Order: sequence, then C-alpha cells, then structure tokens
Amino acid sequence: MDTDALLEAVREGDIRLHELEAHADADTATAVRRRLLAAETGADLETIGAYAFDAAAAEPNIENALGAAQVPMGVVGPIDVDGGAVEGEPRLPLATTEGALVASVNRGCAAIRAGGGATARVLKNEMTRAPVFRVDDVAEAGETAAWIRENVALLAEAAESTTSHGELREVTPYVVGDNVFARFGYDTKDAMGMNMATIATEAACERVVEATPAELVALSGNLCSDKKPAAINSVEGRGRTVAADVVLPEETVEGYFGTTPAAIAEANTRKNLVGSAKAGSLGFNAHAANTVAAAFLATGQDMAQVVEGANAITTADVRSGGDLYASLTIASLEVGTVGGGTNLPTQSEALDVVGVGGGGDPPGSNADALAEVIATAALAGELSLLGALASNHLASAHEELGR
Ligand code: NAP
Repeated sequence: MDTDALLEAVREGDIRLHELEAHADADTATAVRRRLLAAETGADLETIGAYAFDAAAAEPNIENALGAAQVPMGVVGPIDVDGGAVEGEPRLPLATTEGALVASVNRGCAAIRAGGGATARVLKNEMTRAPVFRVDDVAEAGETAAWIRENVALLAEAAESTTSHGELREVTPYVVGDNVFARFGYDTKDAMGMNMATIATEAACERVVEATPAELVALSGNLCSDKKPAAINSVEGRGRTVAADVVLPEETVEGYFGTTPAAIAEANTRKNLVGSAKAGSLGFNAHAANTVAAAFLATGQDMAQVVEGANAITTADVRSGGDLYASLTIASLEVGTVGGGTNLPTQSEALDVVGVGGGGDPPGSNADALAEVIATAALAGELSLLGALASNHLASAHEELGR
C-alpha cells in the first residue's frame, strides 16, 4: 500500500493507528501517522519527523511512533576521577533544556581537575524486584518468610535459569498481616536489569508457590521499589549505590567559586542537611537529579528512574589545613550500558563518548564505570551550585547566561 492508501485505510477504520507498522516499513508508518495527526490537530510535525535514525531501530522502544523528541545535548569534562571501574578522564554528554546546567557542572569538573581529581566507587550493585504473596494469616506468613530465608539457593537456581548474566544475590522477606513480600536483589551486570530481574523473579516465585501456602498476587509488590520515592531505596540501595568525593585546596575553591571552603560547608549543612530534614526530603542534596536526568536522557537510561537517582546525600566539611572535603553518595542509581534505550543510535553514540558502550569486560564493569562518571559529574554540579549560593552568585549566573 502506498502512503495515501494507508492514510485512507486508517481514516476508514480498516487499519488502526497503532497497526501501521504491520502494513508498511517503520519510517513510512511514522510518516503516515504524522500526516494523520497534522490533519487532525493542525500541528506542524516537521521537526518531530526530522529524526536521523532508522525508525525500525526504535521499534522495540516505542509504539504508535511519531518521530523523535530532540533535546539539546552538551558535554562536560574531562572528568578526572580515580574509579573502581572508570578508565581515563572521560567526558559525559548531558541532554537538557535547562540553560546554565551544563556550564555549572562543567565548572565543577574544572575545579575537580584543578584540585587533583575525585575518587568514586560503586559500593553495592543490586537491582530489586519484590513480588507480593497472599497467605491466610500471620502463621502462614511466618512459615512462608522462613521458607524463603532458608531456600535462597533454590530460588537462585530457578531465577538464574532465565538469564545468562543475572545473579541472585539475596532475598529478603517482609510480612504485613496476610501479605508476604520477597525483595529479590540481583547483580544484573551491564544491564539496568528491570526486565531481567522481573523475568527471573517470576521463575523463582513458582518455587515459592509450590513449596509454601502462599499465592502470588503481583510480581511487583512496590517494595522493590521502582519509579516511586521510597525510603527503602535510600537505605538499602537499588541498582548501583555509588559515591564520589574530592578534596579541594582553599585556593581552588576561591579561584573557581569565588568563596571559601567554610562558606560552602555552611551552605551545605544549612541547606542540604537541615533544610532537607525539615522538609522531610529523601534527597539531602542541592540538585543531583539535574545531572542524573541529563545523563540519563543522553545515554538512554529509563527516565522514570530519576526518582531513585535523586536519593543522594551531599556532605561538605573543612579539613584541617583549610581544604574543602565534599562527597556525594547516590543510594539508588539505576544505570545500564546494554538493553533498554541504550541500543538507540543517539544514546549509543553518547555511551561511546564516555567509553562504556555495550557489555564490559568483565561484565558489569561498563555500567559500574558509567555510575562512577555520573556520580562524579553530579558531585561537580553540587559543588558548583553550593559555590554559587555561598558567593550569592546564583541569580547573576543565570542572568549572565540569559536564563
Ligand atoms: P533488557 O533489554 O530487557 O535486557 C538486557 C539483556 O541483555 C539481558 O537480559 C542480557 O541477557 C543481555 N546482556 C547482554 N550482555 C550483557 C551484559 N554484559 N550484562 C548484562 N546483560 C547483558 O534490559 P533490562 O536492563 O533487563 O531492562 C531494561 C528495560 O526494562 C528498559 O527498557 C526499561 O524501561 C524496562 N523496564 C521494565 C520493567 C519491568 O517491570 N519489566 C520496569 C521498569 C523498566 P540474558 O539475561 O539472557 O543474560
């Protein structure tokens, strides 16, 4: 069918809008969809249709495809970091619409370089899935929880039969009345791992149901906890738990931020610690989510997981001798370098800029390196914003950059 015939078929109800790919190649299908939508709404979709990749490459990632949302992308770095996995001094692409963000993070990166570099480590690596089971009463709940605790090896055998990369690290049961939750934690190597963990957990749940009185109600019982603010992720971690820190000499702080280590430390305590505590926040930081979101968008991560990426604590202290010590610990940074949106052409190019595209050697090392780079860039963003606040320079910096 040519495009006019496809257009007519949708208008007549012979083909549904989301079925166009079954009758044409992906690029033609999106073009027909844009023509229909333009006629229906009067909107000009020329830019949405001006994408540079083969629409077929995006078919696993989108339904009812229209084109692409093109977001400006900048770059920060080099990022001078001694990491457990990161090599060299990578640059990090950031996609954002917030003017001044890239400049701010880049200023922090320059200060980190001038100060001799940061250190970063992935401290824990566990993607979680927590199904919820129904039992009759708390006696059955206790029996089920005990069985889960005693049979982690059996559950691992079932779970790992579904994946050649994933490894079950632990299963923690939680009971609420006649509900039993089992929080499964996996090393998903270079994959963010949400699909992998879900498929593996489904197989393990069959063993629980066979051996206990429990009935599976939902494969995800929200104790995981995916894409929602949750204290459990802040405390126990989810995905990569990653920390970055730096010691900046007093003159570096003054040269780059026009303020003192003491002023930055005070701004951090009063704002990020006391202010966040008073607000009941889970994020004791200035704007870690800014860097996390921009890095996620550039490198093909699942954007809804920026929620967990904001679970971060910034510390800043004056060390003896007058240097500034600053750190950022992100409890639940969910990143991958394979799977999901990382396969898309734009995002895969961005991962190549960082030097972490695809599977790592050993598996997991690329995702570890990406987590360390993002955490260090986010620390740079923290330093820059704290510096701007401490020197009363925040509003003027935005004005100078025209925003
Ligand atoms: P995926 O694209 O579903 O799977 C990635 C696969 O890559 C793995 O399962 C693994 O296969 C394979 N692989 C090859 N080399 C690897 C390496 N070095 N390390 C690890 N795996 C390697 O991706 P995913 O990370 O599991 O899931 C991410 C997707 O899930 C995103 O699109 C996200 O939006 C979506 N998501 C799903 C849910 C859900 O509940 N299902 C929730 C939130 C988000 P083997 O397993 O065979 O080894």
